[in-house]
Amino acid sequence: MSTEPVIAGNWKMHHGPGATRRFFGGFRPEFDGDPPTLLVFPPTVSLAAARESLPETPPVCLGIQNIHWEDAGAYTGEISAGMAAEAGATHVLIGHSERRHVFGETDDEVALKVDAALGHGLVPVVCVGETLEERRAGRVEEVILRQLDVALGVLAGREHSGFMLAYEPVWAIGTGETATPADASAAHGGLRKRLVDTLESEGDAGDVPILYGGSVKPHNARELLDAPDVDGVLVGGASLEADSFAAIATA
Ligand code: PEP
Repeated sequence: MSTEPVIAGNWKMHHGPGATRRFFGGFRPEFDGDPPTLLVFPPTVSLAAARESLPETPPVCLGIQNIHWEDAGAYTGEISAGMAAEAGATHVLIGHSERRHVFGETDDEVALKVDAALGHGLVPVVCVGETLEERRAGRVEEVILRQLDVALGVLAGREHSGFMLAYEPVWAIGTGETATPADASAAHGGLRKRLVDTLESEGDAGDVPILYGGSVKPHNARELLDAPDVDGVLVGGASLEADSFAAIATA
C-alpha cells in the first residue's frame, strides 16, 4: 500500500480562471511532517490559471476531469489526452459516476480512455462505484470489480507511470451520505485483492492508491483516511473552498 495519502479535489463544473486564481491564492495548508500528495481537477478552461497560481509549497498536481480517446479529429467540445498533457495535466479522472450516469459513458469507453491516458503519460484515476439499487441488491463487489477489470484489461502488461483507483459509491456523491469507514474498507479490500491477483507479476499492485470519494468533508475525512485500505480521498463539494480543502488535507 502507498504510504503518502492522496488528497484529490474534483471541482466538477465550478471555478473559472478567476475563481481558480483566488482559490490558490488562499490555499496555504501547513503540515507538521511530509505533505500528502495533493491533486486538483479544475475545469479544463481553468488549467492555465491553476498552473500560474499554484503555490510553491506544498506541491499540487493538476488533472483533467475527462478526455476523449482519439488524439484529434472532428469531436466538437472534446479534449484529447495529448492536449491535456500539453496543457499541464498529469492525471485524468476516468469513469466518474457523473460521466457514467449523466453522460452515459460505457465500460468500453472507459477502457479506450485509460488506453489514451497511458499513451500520453497521464495517470488515470479510474472511478468505480455502485448505485443504491445495486448496493441494496447485494451487488457492490460484483459491480466495482467489473468496472475495475475493464481498466485492468488495458493496464495489465503495459508500461505506465502510475495508476489510481477511486471507490465512489454513486449514492454518496454530492448527497451528504457517506459510506462508513467499515464499508469503505470492505470495498477497498476487494479492489486491492483483485489488483494484487491481476497485476501480481508486475509487482506494483500493492502501491496503487485506492481513494474513497463520496461526501468527504473536514469532519469525516480523518476517520475515512484511518480506515484500512483507504489510501486517500477524492473530494467534490468540500474541495471548492480553499479552507475546507486545506482542512481535509491536514486531516
Ligand atoms: C466527486 O465529485 O467525486 C465527489 C465525491 O463529490 P462530493 O465530495 O461532493 O460527494
